[in-house]
Amino acid sequence: MISVEEALERVLNCVHVLEAEEKPILEALGQVLAEDVHSPVDVPPLDNAAMDGYAVRAEDTLGATPTSPRVLKVVAEAAAGTVVEHRLEPGEAIRIMTGAPLPPGATAVIPFEDTDEMKRQSPIAEIGIHRSADGGLNIRRAGEDITKGSLVLRKGTVLRPQEIGVLASLGRGRVQVVRRPRVAILATGDELIDVGQPPAPGKIYDSNTYTIACQVRRAGGIPRILGIAPDREERLVAKVREGLEADMLLTSGGVSLGDYDMVKGVLAKEGEIAFWTVRMKPGKPLAFGSFAVGEGDRLRRVPHLGFPGNPVSSMISFELFARPAILKMMGKTTLSKPTVTAILEDRVINSDRRRIFARVNVERRQGQYFARLTGPQGSGILTSMAWANGLAIIPEDVAEAKPGDTVQVIMLDWAEGQGA
Ligand code: AMP
Ligand code: MG
Repeated sequence: MISVEEALERVLNCVHVLEAEEKPILEALGQVLAEDVHSPVDVPPLDNAAMDGYAVRAEDTLGATPTSPRVLKVVAEAAAGTVVEHRLEPGEAIRIMTGAPLPPGATAVIPFEDTDEMKRQSPIAEIGIHRSADGGLNIRRAGEDITKGSLVLRKGTVLRPQEIGVLASLGRGRVQVVRRPRVAILATGDELIDVGQPPAPGKIYDSNTYTIACQVRRAGGIPRILGIAPDREERLVAKVREGLEADMLLTSGGVSLGDYDMVKGVLAKEGEIAFWTVRMKPGKPLAFGSFAVGEGDRLRRVPHLGFPGNPVSSMISFELFARPAILKMMGKTTLSKPTVTAILEDRVINSDRRRIFARVNVERRQGQYFARLTGPQGSGILTSMAWANGLAIIPEDVAEAKPGDTVQVIMLDWAEGQGA
């Protein structure tokens, strides 16, 4: 039995950052940039107005106040998206809208509220300026956001909405990103039936396929559902082979010591086992290894995580090992979820000195986090995950965690009931 850290290290050593692919920017959200992006343009491309108002020559406003306005001649209008060619002469102003390129000769923009426009009838031939302006007032300079040729986004950056927007502002419609891993998911067990089937004696619905597929998607991978394999070696082998087209294989069930636990055997026979059993609860019988696919130059190893069948064990094993592996394949470097320090409000007994991941609900009260168990902690009780937003860690060397003790909690979700 190995520690959680060692297990994670061995899993991560077996997975590698995937190749780059070119994608439309809208489809690249959440992926990692596989190129340095330099700007082919200045953003904004031209000096332009930061407010609606009047473009003026700053020196023409000298000494202007509401009681002693400077009256300028309005010679044109500049709307966003058009370029006014007229060069401002002394005593002239151009009515200008936010974002419109600054006319030649203009050095400041006086907002409407600092003029007497309210009192004037359109068409406005003259405008009274109520304040004096320094050169540059309310002007956005060309290249003030991004200068042409500069490095804007570095390779390795995770693309969020704002980075996608920055790419769009450069005129980039497509981008090179690390591709998402395809993750094959296989449920195993003679007792399993799929949703939509009528209940049958001795059978239970396969929930792991669905939780795992959603966990894969949320981590950024592309789930490929293989369905349910019965506890018969040849059927299991056939399904596993189907799964080897993917970048990683996740199975649930069949890794304990029961008569029908064949997944480990198949991994040992058809592939290579790297480890089995981790000092954790739930999830101890986790199996990990890999299958070789192809030959020569085209030989690759497909990592396989064999989760225990109990739904909570499977989910927590995914969180601890599969999620970081998927993130690594996607080129990400932050592989763990954030943790908080919380005050435990219940008792947790650690009878056999494994690392316990207790399902808790974390709440912040008076500037302090509190963690309360979400009910019975059996590894088959999936609703204990449904009510939880975190996993409280009870270390191997703590025989009993008491109410009032301080614990580290891995936050699964920051806000109750929220996605992603
Ligand atoms: P196993 O690890 O195969 O011994 O499975 C342990 C227990 O987990 C089984 O008795 C089932 O109750 C449950 N189980 C296994 N696979 C699934 C699944 N795909 N969905 C829901 N429960 C499962
Ligand atoms: Mg089974």
